[in-house]
Amino acid sequence: MSEPNTDTTTRSDIDEQSDEQFRSWTESSGTGTVNIQDLRKVYGDDGDELVAVDGMDLHIEAEEFVTVLGPSGCGKSTVMECIAGYLDPTEGEVLVNDEPVEGPDPSRGVVFQENRLFPWKTISENVRFGPQMRDDVDESRVASLFDQMGLEGFEDAYPNELSGGMQQRAELARLLANDPDIMLMDEPFSGLDAMTKELMQEKLLDVWEDDDRTVLFITHDVEEAILLADRVVVMTARPGQVKDVIDVDLERPRSTDMVTTDRFNELQRRASESIHDEAERAMEQAEGRA
Ligand code: ADP
Repeated sequence: MSEPNTDTTTRSDIDEQSDEQFRSWTESSGTGTVNIQDLRKVYGDDGDELVAVDGMDLHIEAEEFVTVLGPSGCGKSTVMECIAGYLDPTEGEVLVNDEPVEGPDPSRGVVFQENRLFPWKTISENVRFGPQMRDDVDESRVASLFDQMGLEGFEDAYPNELSGGMQQRAELARLLANDPDIMLMDEPFSGLDAMTKELMQEKLLDVWEDDDRTVLFITHDVEEAILLADRVVVMTARPGQVKDVIDVDLERPRSTDMVTTDRFNELQRRASESIHDEAERAMEQAEGRA
């Protein structure tokens, strides 16, 4: 004899549950969102103040690839360091996953133009460093990062034994070993020769397309900004704020040969025009004329 059915779940309960489940599968969990609200950052103190950023607002969706273009000294790195948690805003707020940033966190990985590899550690020790600090080394992940970054065979090399491009790949592997939700990249490829830079751009696009990560990438290279991004944010001269946001409607996956297409050229022209006056203003500031 079968058990009597004591389940009181109704059809609408099931619908509600499955709706909820469906939403949790299809909607972003919000992991990796960045919200910059009316950010102001002032360096120095009374009488000797420099307003680097003022009235900056920007929302970045989870898994979005955003590039930031702006003239030198307009506050790009300052904004990034506020998101990284290295700097506190003077006014306004930086929220990550709807929570105010309170200091650095491995879920927000940072890459600079000059790599931050420890010169006295091997590449393998560098890549493992973050997870090891948390007692959380995933050997298969480390191996696959070496493979993905084309660094197999260089595990025991020291950073100064590698070329600039390989050092930046090791830096990317080191960053990815922490499995960050957000990658903050400050002109990471600007010190590389043109060919290596192109290869690194392709590598980064592969990494981003494979994983669910948000990327904020600062560059002064208009072509690079468009090639990589979902949206290009153009900043004003100092004090920096958002001047323009350009949606990049080029198809994905992207490849470096797209730079010759008409649409790419149109977007490039628009970004260059947008930044032109700001670059002029920044130059006047640097020369003390503004
Ligand atoms: P960008 O990244 O766009 O080149 P930064 O964010 O590095 O610009 O700098 C913005 C402005 O703030 C520049 O004028 C810079 O000289 C100044 N600045 C940056 N860091 C400091 C600091 N620690 N103390 C004083 N001024 C700073």
